[in-house]
Amino acid sequence: MTDTNTGELDIDSWLDENWDPEITVAEWWGRMGKAGLSNPTLPAPYGRGWSRAQAGALVDAMVARGALGPPAGIGMMLAAPTLLAHGSPELIEEFVPKILNGQHGWCQLFSEPVAGSDLAGLQTKAIRDGDEWIINGQKVWTSGGQWADYGILIARTDPDLPKHRGISYFAFPMMQDGVDIRPLREMTGRAMFNEVFMDDCRVPATSLLGDLNDGWRVTNTTLMVERSSIGGETIAAPSAAIAGTVSGHLDRKAGSFGDEPHAMGGGMVGAGRLKSMIKLAKENGTINNPVLRQDLMRLHTMISISDWHIGRMKSGNAATGSEGNMAKLRNSDMTRLTREVGCSILGPGATLSGPDSPSRGELQELTVFSPAPSIYGGTDQVQRNIIGERGLGLAKEPGPDNRTTPFSDLAKNV
Ligand SMILES: Cc1cc2nc3c(=O)[nH]c(=O)nc-3n(C[C@H](O)[C@H](O)[C@H](O)COP(=O)(O)OP(=O)(O)OC[C@H]3O[C@@H](n4cnc5c(N)ncnc54)[C@H](O)[C@@H]3O)c2cc1C
Repeated sequence: MTDTNTGELDIDSWLDENWDPEITVAEWWGRMGKAGLSNPTLPAPYGRGWSRAQAGALVDAMVARGALGPPAGIGMMLAAPTLLAHGSPELIEEFVPKILNGQHGWCQLFSEPVAGSDLAGLQTKAIRDGDEWIINGQKVWTSGGQWADYGILIARTDPDLPKHRGISYFAFPMMQDGVDIRPLREMTGRAMFNEVFMDDCRVPATSLLGDLNDGWRVTNTTLMVERSSIGGETIAAPSAAIAGTVSGHLDRKAGSFGDEPHAMGGGMVGAGRLKSMIKLAKENGTINNPVLRQDLMRLHTMISISDWHIGRMKSGNAATGSEGNMAKLRNSDMTRLTREVGCSILGPGATLSGPDSPSRGELQELTVFSPAPSIYGGTDQVQRNIIGERGLGLAKEPGPDNRTTPFSDLAKNV
């Protein structure tokens, strides 16, 4: 990784010199990572310390020439920022460059069958054995688990400590005996997420992020990054290629993806989606419907406010500390409105699916995907609880004193 990345760069000249649809995805992502352009808002040497506006200019330039976007997914969105915040210099150097150049794909091993909203109630165990930890347990809803080289894993390392204290956070290698990944089919028709069973799996003791039994603090970094990312913080050109050694995309030509939809699904909402909906409405004449025009304006207003809100947060002017939770809640509203307006534009075509249908099936897929954003990254109800308790200082929900009672003495979900 070079340490020469500075804020200054002529984007068009850089793309002229580096974007080539004939090179492999690995080579293209390698060039982006080396130049600090995979996520230019990260500080140098990993990014370029750019503002959202500068990162947006890169996205526009890449979209204009049809360049493949950077390696997206859990590695870029969650693992890299968490590693940079809590990892030792050795862990950062081991993992972050390979996230930025797409060599490694990651997944998030947090939720369990009995620990979703109540995430700190997790029961996956890690027991120390020499220089390693032995992991036993089950995770669920693991997006992209089937393509991941590594997972950010939280496991209980001391059940005799209070619920939030005995949890530790690991960079977990997925390619090992004892990891059983079973895809779950969604109503979109895809199997984006999985059950992951870990049976006597191993993780090196050096792969601990943060201190032993202090993984909840690290987890909160990941969760806050996740919420603000879902709420619109992430700015990147679209990419249908999946990072890592498993998907088989690294050896494909960078220009070979065309209009291929992303294998993780097409649920994204935002300015790009709005633009394509307006284009479709103009093509099929529904743009002349005054109610639909009003709804498109409502959506535009929501997207703009959300963008300004995130911009204020990123510039260090957050007023409440709950900005990420609010951004995530607003994303749920935007998704629902995008679904309603999209289906109005499509009319009866909204019942069709596949690349030959209007909108190439994208708005139809978004429609069946639309319940998901109000669940993943913490449900809408959980965001409201956090805003109420931490942002507004309202009383906590009644229950046992989690701060002092050992986890082993608490009633468990089964
Ligand atoms: C598309 C998708 C992708 C996902 N990807 C991942 C992933 O990659 N990795 C991962 O670890 N997890 C992932 N998840 C899991 C997600 O984080 C959980 O589904 C979520 O946290 C909710 O947990 P749960 O499903 O167990 O629901 P529960 O916690 O059982 O909640 C059920 C209902 O009860 C409500 N509820 C629960 N507790 C409270 C409370 N205290 N106050 C008010 N209402 C409450 C909830 O809001 C919800 O409506 C994904 C989920 C989805 C839908």
